[in-house]
Amino acid sequence: MMTYYELIELRDKLTNGDISLEYAKKIFWSEFKEGERAWHSKDWKDRRTNVLKDKCEICGSRETLTLQHLSHPKKYYEYERDVTKKYTQSLRESYSIINKSDFGEYIEKKYDYVPVPLCPNCKNKYPNKRKRKKPQYLCTECRHEFNEPIYMSIDALIDLFCKNEEAAEVRDKCFVSKDKWKNQHNLSQVKYWLQREKVKAKNDEIIKKDAFLLYLENNIKYLSFEDTITACKKCAYNFDINNMELCPKCKEYYKSIKYPTCIQCLPEEKRKAVLDSIEFGKEMQEMHKKLGID
Ligand SMILES: [Zn+2]
Ligand SMILES: [Zn+2]
Ligand SMILES: [Zn+2]
Repeated sequence: MMTYYELIELRDKLTNGDISLEYAKKIFWSEFKEGERAWHSKDWKDRRTNVLKDKCEICGSRETLTLQHLSHPKKYYEYERDVTKKYTQSLRESYSIINKSDFGEYIEKKYDYVPVPLCPNCKNKYPNKRKRKKPQYLCTECRHEFNEPIYMSIDALIDLFCKNEEAAEVRDKCFVSKDKWKNQHNLSQVKYWLQREKVKAKNDEIIKKDAFLLYLENNIKYLSFEDTITACKKCAYNFDINNMELCPKCKEYYKSIKYPTCIQCLPEEKRKAVLDSIEFGKEMQEMHKKLGID
C-alpha cells in the first residue's frame, strides 16, 4: 500500500499530466493489496501520534484511545459510476434530443419488447381477458368485445415519445432488458441508458481519469486523518462511528445521531444508563471474541 506522501505525489503527477492514467493505475494497483490495513504502516503510525487527542471525544475517558474515521473511501468502481452519472446528467441537460434510428437500433440490441394489449376500438390499455366467454376480450372503457387486441409497434411508440416524452402511451415499462437482470424499462429509462452508453463511449478516458483522481483524493483524505475523532476503546466498540456528529449543546463531544446530545450533556439518569449499556456492549463483544463468534 502506498504511503500518504506517495499518494499525494501520484495524484499531482496525474493531475498535471506528467504521467498517463494507465501508468498511475499500474503503480497504484501493484502496491495495493486487498485487505491490507493502512494502520500497519510506519508512515501511518508516525502521523497518527500527532492527531490523536488526549481524551475520548465521545465520553471524555483517557483510557486506550484510538482514532476513528467518520468517513471511508468508496471502492473505485463506485466513483466511476458516480462520475458516469454526472456526465450523463450534464449531457441530458444540454442536449436531450435523440436520434430515432439510434434509439430503434439500441432497443433492438438490448431489449425485448413486450407490448401492452389495446382495445381495437378505443385503444384503452389492458382489456379484460376472459377465461370462458367468447369473444375473449372485453374493453372496460367502451364495452367493445373482441378476440384480438391490437399492439403498438416499436416505431410508433418511438415516434410518439419523440413528440411527447410524457405521453400516457409511452410510460409503460414494456421493454425487458436482454441481460440476466431482465430489467423492465419504459422509453424514458431506455433513453437514459442509451445516453449513458454514448457518454461512456465518448468520454471513456476522461471519466476513468476523473474517477481515479477522486478515488486517490479520498484515499489521501483517509490517510490524512481529516474527518477522524479520538475515541476510547469502549466508545469505538459501541458507537456506530459513521453516524456521529458534534453535540449541538456543548459543541465539544461527539454524539450518535440517535441521541439529541452527547453523553456528557444527557440528564444524569440517562447518562448512567448509556454508560452502562456501553459497558455491557463491550463485555458482550469481548465474550464473542473469546468464543470466536466475532
Ligand atoms: Zn469514550
Ligand atoms: Zn375500448
Ligand atoms: Zn454535549
